Amino acid sequence: MAVHTEAYTHLVTDLNSKQVQLVAVSKLKPASDIQELYNLGQRHFGENYVQELCEKYELLPKDICWHFIGHLQSNKIKYIAPFVHLIHGIDSFKLLKEVDKQAAKQNRIIQCLLQVYIAQEETKFGMDAEELETLFHHPELKDLKHIRICGLMGMATLTENQDQIRKEFRHLKSVFDDINFRIKSFQLSNLPNELTMLSMGMSADYNIAIEEGSNIVRIGSLLFGSREYVK
Ligand SMILES: *Cc1c(COP(=O)(O)O)cnc(C)c1O
Repeated sequence: MAVHTEAYTHLVTDLNSKQVQLVAVSKLKPASDIQELYNLGQRHFGENYVQELCEKYELLPKDICWHFIGHLQSNKIKYIAPFVHLIHGIDSFKLLKEVDKQAAKQNRIIQCLLQVYIAQEETKFGMDAEELETLFHHPELKDLKHIRICGLMGMATLTENQDQIRKEFRHLKSVFDDINFRIKSFQLSNLPNELTMLSMGMSADYNIAIEEGSNIVRIGSLLFGSREYVK
């Protein structure tokens, strides 16, 4: 299957005009597909599986910014800590603390997004508003010097119902705005003055996500074609 280079060019032009960052989601696709988009100028790629990400990191140009967008297991953080650019799916303080520990070993500060649960599907990961609040007020959060919480990430329900998708993204944006409204009161050195990154939207729903305030979209099948799940 060929990379959809024409779709890529159109997408990038559109996203640039809206100041939205594209993360090209390349999971289960060969390194050669990534190289093809790289040659067109794409530098941000997203992967879901640690081992696959590490293999691709070895093979491909070192100026690629790798986003980890999958469900991260604590015992695998060490493999991506040396190079990962942004982790999108932090869903507990425990995981954040483990990222901090591995980042410290690498003498790095790793950028993280907190994943918020906005869908009506049991299978999706993420924190609810209360868990998010608990995390921001965790007494040990100030001690994590090797992570930086840069924003939030969420996935809408897989549905044809556009109103529902819009409602879910709008909800995430309101959580994002609410935290930014209060962020100075948290007084944490590992938080920037405001959360700047809002990662929401995939191939099927990125237009709605952008209308609702997303500034990072994670797009796979639109660029690389559909995936065959034979892991
Ligand atoms: C696979 C994946 C995407 C990309 O999905 P497409 O529908 O192929 O664009 C985006 N975000 C996450 C978290 C994913 O796992």
